[in-house]
Amino acid sequence: MPAVKQFDVIVVGKGNAALCAALSARESGVSVAMLEAASEDESGGNSRFAGGVMRFAYASVDDLRRVTDISDEEAAGSDFGTNTREEYLDILYRLTSYRTDPDLSEILVNGSLDTMAWLRSKGARFILNHGRQSGMVNGKRKYFGNMPIEVNGGGAGLVQYLDAAAKKAGIEVFYEARVASLLYDGERVSGVRAALRGKPEDFRAKSVVLACGGFEANPEWRTRYLGPGWELAKVRGSRFNVGDGLRMALDIGAAPHGNWSGCHATGWDRYAPEFGDVNVGDQFQKHSYIFGLLINADGRRFVDEGVDFHSFTYAKYGGEVLKQPGQFAWQVFDSKVTKLLRSEYRIKFVTKVSAPTLEALAPQLEGVNAGEFLKTVREYNAAVRKDVPFDHTVKDGKCTVGIEPPKSNWAQPLDTPPFDAYATTCGITFTFGGLRIDKETGQVLDVHFHPIPGLYTAGEMVGGLFYFNYPSGTGLVSGAVFGRMAGASAATAAKG
Ligand SMILES: Cc1cc2nc3c(=O)[nH]c(=O)nc-3n(C[C@H](O)[C@H](O)[C@H](O)COP(=O)(O)OP(=O)(O)OC[C@H]3O[C@@H](n4cnc5c(N)ncnc54)[C@H](O)[C@@H]3O)c2cc1C
Repeated sequence: MPAVKQFDVIVVGKGNAALCAALSARESGVSVAMLEAASEDESGGNSRFAGGVMRFAYASVDDLRRVTDISDEEAAGSDFGTNTREEYLDILYRLTSYRTDPDLSEILVNGSLDTMAWLRSKGARFILNHGRQSGMVNGKRKYFGNMPIEVNGGGAGLVQYLDAAAKKAGIEVFYEARVASLLYDGERVSGVRAALRGKPEDFRAKSVVLACGGFEANPEWRTRYLGPGWELAKVRGSRFNVGDGLRMALDIGAAPHGNWSGCHATGWDRYAPEFGDVNVGDQFQKHSYIFGLLINADGRRFVDEGVDFHSFTYAKYGGEVLKQPGQFAWQVFDSKVTKLLRSEYRIKFVTKVSAPTLEALAPQLEGVNAGEFLKTVREYNAAVRKDVPFDHTVKDGKCTVGIEPPKSNWAQPLDTPPFDAYATTCGITFTFGGLRIDKETGQVLDVHFHPIPGLYTAGEMVGGLFYFNYPSGTGLVSGAVFGRMAGASAATAAKG
């Protein structure tokens, strides 16, 4: 017989969504335990790998000041833009081809600023996002992409802050506790069965919150749901998100929801390891392709690199790279844009070649048809509009004419040596398919849309928000908003 432990609320996982759920449940005074599959060293889920940019709704500097300190001098010298609720919803709708669940997206957007302030109240520290998405324009620092704030220390910092808060709140954490199934009597969920350091153990609870990620680290499920070829993607983050939570909920009749054949996937160093490396974090990514060309094995371009800011294309372009022969693409730049390349282009572990001429670069692009590559660049250079000025801080309309695919913004000829090229493949971030939840509580619904007593979910496991694409910075905020909601509801139910 497995040993038994008893709590009011059990949270499965220990990433951002789980920590938010646990902290929120604990605010009601109930006893809370977290069960994490990884060892303490490897815990923190994808949240720990995140760059840490956070997209929330704000309309003024005063809104931003609820999240971080901004001096009058800083405010006067900055153009923060806005990300009003309407703008945020608009981006979500546009990027998901108008499929995002209207109720879920509204909860996310409407709750985002309050939740950022709540995270701050729990000890999380936020800073202005100078490094990644800002530039000086007419003497002012302009933040573009509607996302001027990031968490100090990135996702790893966020997990550390929330971890400290959880310790302070007296939340018990069990590591190396892989939850295998739900304790379910056909009517309600009353706990979970876990393997605690390999030994079966039952954890009984009045409410269970599943916040244990998607199935991105499971090559078999990726092939099954995302399609053939997806087993070949690299995993950008945690190796522990193998779909356990989804499987155990579906096993008791939970309703699947959302884009089960969709995922977030980006350009990622071609020779990065199979799973994320916490010492490198998100830096295997290569997000400055908007300033260069993406070239496949045939020596051809295959997407409009400059259709929008990277925040609005990067999450789907990983999938486009995966579709190319050999599942790779080279990103090619000339020296005019070197200073605009993000920090990830300057890390030690990078697959990069350089040459003083395009002719000398071509044979160095491993796996690429060199002749076709040179032809592609000649045609591209000739197609660039010379009469439109380049401006990296706005969609500048500096485009190509008469080639397919076009490049719609930031199109400059590749003509200034030296030339640099970076080899990328597809890195999967997280999967979009999840569970259907009650919009008021975060309670999991069954296939007939009745709430399953005792079962809640949050984070990557919530289905229905993202389809085909995703605006950067939304994952952490969504995990926090829905984690906080699920935790509060789970505690209320446990007390009742
Ligand atoms: C490289 C990278 C960069 C990113 N950058 C950003 C960014 O800048 N901004 C942003 O908003 N988002 C970013 N994201 C996305 C963001 O990290 C995720 O959306 C978010 O962290 C998901 O949080 P979560 O709590 O749902 O899942 P996770 O943080 O993955 O947590 C899931 C947890 O469940 C545990 N677990 C899994 N199975 C079990 C089981 N059977 N039993 C017990 N525990 C289990 C895992 O070990 C893990 O700790 C990035 C992601 C990656 C990988």
